[in-house]
Amino acid sequence: MKHIDIANILQDKTLLGSKVTVCGWVRTARDSAAVAFLEVTDGSSFSRLQVVVDKSKFELDPECTKCGASIAATGVVVKAFKGEGAELNAESVTLLGKCPGDYPIQKKRTTLEFLRTIPHLRLRTNTFSAVFRVRSVAAQAIHRFFHENRFYYVHTPLITASDCEGAGEMFRVTTQPWNAKYESEAAYYKDDFFGQKAGLSVSGQLEGEVAAMAFGKIYTFGPSFRAENSNTTRHLAEFWHVEPEIVFAELPEVMELAEAMIKYVVRAVLEECPDEMDFFEKFVEPGLKEKLANIVESKFAVLEYTEAIELLKKADENFQFPVEWGCDLQTEHERYLTEKVFKKPVFVTNYPKEIKSFYMKQNADGKTVAATDLLVPGIGEIIGGSEREADPDKLLAAMQARGMDIAAYRQYLDLRKFGTAPHGGFGLGFDRFVMYVTGMENIRDVVLFPRTVNNIM
Ligand code: ATP
Ligand code: MN
Repeated sequence: MKHIDIANILQDKTLLGSKVTVCGWVRTARDSAAVAFLEVTDGSSFSRLQVVVDKSKFELDPECTKCGASIAATGVVVKAFKGEGAELNAESVTLLGKCPGDYPIQKKRTTLEFLRTIPHLRLRTNTFSAVFRVRSVAAQAIHRFFHENRFYYVHTPLITASDCEGAGEMFRVTTQPWNAKYESEAAYYKDDFFGQKAGLSVSGQLEGEVAAMAFGKIYTFGPSFRAENSNTTRHLAEFWHVEPEIVFAELPEVMELAEAMIKYVVRAVLEECPDEMDFFEKFVEPGLKEKLANIVESKFAVLEYTEAIELLKKADENFQFPVEWGCDLQTEHERYLTEKVFKKPVFVTNYPKEIKSFYMKQNADGKTVAATDLLVPGIGEIIGGSEREADPDKLLAAMQARGMDIAAYRQYLDLRKFGTAPHGGFGLGFDRFVMYVTGMENIRDVVLFPRTVNNIM
């Protein structure tokens, strides 16, 4: 169908006076005997186009005034009666698809909980159109950032045999019938599709390191899967993961990269989504725009894990989980540090080795590893990263101490055997980042079809 985007009409002043056709869905309509005003959206812009129908000129099908109906309207672009923009003086309006009165997306605001029960229709609300434009703009900006900085974009496998970190969190991939009876686990998997146990990847990092050790700077941007049994507002079973890996780099460069990337993408969202950000500011998180403007301007805080523990112990708060050196930080601790103490993003660095992964670079103190988490107000952790252990002997010792199956990691150990080099990287939870820049409080409201425990609608 020949038509133009509503965004063009609203933005391009040279279209004033020309005759155009637009297509879209009616969001609201005011209808009187002489004139009808249809507010139409086609997804190309957050603002809607007002289509004005002078009923003396042609007969308007009353179905075209129903909320949710899809229509095509042809007419002349004129200056809006009110304000700066443009509107359309219709010469004809055609009904493309009618929308009956039981359409659940009506004008009055409903709750996000209710909208989660209709994931196939909720995207038609203002809230979701704003969330998903920001999500799309942010994803493009991530690719731009890495491309401009000469990173290779690599695609790591989603099906994997290594269950590093995945213990208990890994979804199994199998073609075995449900009633198969085998005498041992090994015999069972031997008969399976890959001839061994396989699962969905919880992270592309290990394969990302393989690529980085050839190309220097790489990133992945794809889904990761975790059978998280925790029913929180920050965890999905299927989430989108951005994982850069850089060689000839130590922890400080990994942190620099994370900060530069976050700032780049926040700036892109502020510049490219002004209407959406106004909406979030007004209806979702007052102060959001200033918060994000500050992110771009100010330096992120950096805090040693050991200092973090001291701050938490001194805190005048009733934490549910007690704090001692050696404990993992819970969300309540993370949020206290970033919201109450620093009031901005904070990198926590050098965690105890016992609570972090085998591949993290062991510090000289013998107690900590060169890891960092980036904590942000409202959420807690959005990035987890580290320098990797590049010394083959130390890496092997860490794996043995954890009782890992060394044979399964031969490739990974080879990276340290053949031309090892200091390197590191991080994982950004993209969905959590979208929460952060939109102010949305539940991760289920920033993905099309959230997959969580007991829910695969
Ligand atoms: P958390 O402690 O919050 O469960 P994690 O430490 O297990 O996270 P990492 O393994 O460090 O997470 O993964 C890197 C990033 O991926 C996290 O900082 C987070 O932003 C994101 N992430 C991890 N698990 C999930 C999940 N289940 N749903 C959404 N995002 C996730
Ligand atoms: Mn982490």
